[in-house]
Amino acid sequence: MHEIVDSQSLLRTIMSPALTVSSDKSTTNANAIKAQARPTYILHRTPWRPPVATRAEGIYIDLEDGRRVIDAVGGAAVACIGSGNQTVIEAIKAQADELTYVYNMQLSNGPAEELAKFLIESGKGAFGLCGFVSGGSEAMEGAIKLARQYFFETNQPQRVHFIARNLSYHGNTLSTVSLSNNPARRKPYEGILDHEHFHFVSPAFAKRFQRSDESEADYVERLRKELDDKFQELGPGNVIAFVAETVVGATTGALPAPTGYFKAMKSVCDKYGALLILDEVMSGMGRMGTMHAWESFGDGVFPDIQAVAKGLGGGYASIGAVLFSERIAEGIRDHSGLWMHGHTYQAHPLACAAALAVQHVISSSNLLENCRTQGAYLSSLLHSRLQGPNCLARPYTFDIRGGGLFWGIEFDFTDSDSSVAEKKKLDFKGRPFALAVQAKALENGLVVMGFTGCANIEGTRGDHNLLAPPYNVTKDEVEKIVDIFVESVEQVLKEGGA
Ligand SMILES: *Cc1c(COP(=O)(O)O)cnc(C)c1O
Repeated sequence: MHEIVDSQSLLRTIMSPALTVSSDKSTTNANAIKAQARPTYILHRTPWRPPVATRAEGIYIDLEDGRRVIDAVGGAAVACIGSGNQTVIEAIKAQADELTYVYNMQLSNGPAEELAKFLIESGKGAFGLCGFVSGGSEAMEGAIKLARQYFFETNQPQRVHFIARNLSYHGNTLSTVSLSNNPARRKPYEGILDHEHFHFVSPAFAKRFQRSDESEADYVERLRKELDDKFQELGPGNVIAFVAETVVGATTGALPAPTGYFKAMKSVCDKYGALLILDEVMSGMGRMGTMHAWESFGDGVFPDIQAVAKGLGGGYASIGAVLFSERIAEGIRDHSGLWMHGHTYQAHPLACAAALAVQHVISSSNLLENCRTQGAYLSSLLHSRLQGPNCLARPYTFDIRGGGLFWGIEFDFTDSDSSVAEKKKLDFKGRPFALAVQAKALENGLVVMGFTGCANIEGTRGDHNLLAPPYNVTKDEVEKIVDIFVESVEQVLKEGGA
């Protein structure tokens, strides 16, 4: 998930302490050394060999070197009920005894049908049908293709354009990278990305881009007009959809849009007969404290097509889904009557059974309510601790944002945006601050995510960390997470000269 692709040796230096973290148990040190010495045959996503996890329970993960760490971000906002949930494990075992695989072009299966019913009902009228895939990128790829299939079949084949936003992330396949504007992730592939059909408008990021002479409503109106102009530029009848993350995830860090934004953007889509596609791969399925993020952050607007994934299977299975409105369902029913987009592992019985059990745990234990309650507590602790008078981080904490159990903390070290007099010039020896915090937190026994590049459109400036604990996190665990996180931030600052 790290955004710095051209400074791998730098990252190696920053992160390697995580592997050799000292512990007072000498056997632990011996295990750490042994673990490090063992070769890996995996091309990892980090330039260093990540520690190996051996077991997990609730919010805790045990590592091969004997340490136990708290996962405060559920992997990548995935493990929404933590690990080792017995109800889910039993459901997977029971399904394995009954039926492990059928190919969905020949046969459907019980768990898939039941999960589909659950998802459609969860939309309270927003959705008519859905289809299953194996993850978030496949869901967004499926959403793109479904939108095109819809217009192809309903006699508007001239619609070929998608408009998405800068500083967004929609997946790692070629089309979804083309649809995303996360500069670091695009860089190696620019030469083969699709620049013809995927276009961009500004992000909805008031704290950074709303002008001082603008009200929130003015800012939303400027963004609305920019989208309208982009439709005009591409030919108003040629656009398939406007695509956005309801709450932006990795790229800018748990960033909700300003009030009225989705209503304004939807009005442009409606004006030109185009679709609204919401990417809720990270922010959906309860993460924001409501089943769908648009229920709490969408101005009452719901999408024509929506992608979900991470919290759907909660890490117990690889699964994603494309949910779509009755309008799309009807358009396709009246023509081909089928989803053109197929994958071999679609609607996998084990994955669907696991996801169904995860969703059952969430609803039967009232976890969305806990998500809202503990989320509010997490937010208040982050605010009072990081912006408290004695906190080293106070001058550098630019923004604490999010909702539910999805929180981004953005730090700023530049003088230009400084509104705080005591901001000092710090020297992190060229290290990205948020990644140094991620490494320090892991040393201290806490898994968080760190990213760079949220502060400008070029993606060259900005530091943020992401927290996304499970919906069943306890008050004690929230306090532990904030303690270790704030301590790690202060340690990195101190080492930088604060
Ligand atoms: C993670 C993510 C994706 C991609 O999902 P994968 O399961 O990693 O393929 C797409 N969109 C958003 C918003 C995401 O956070």
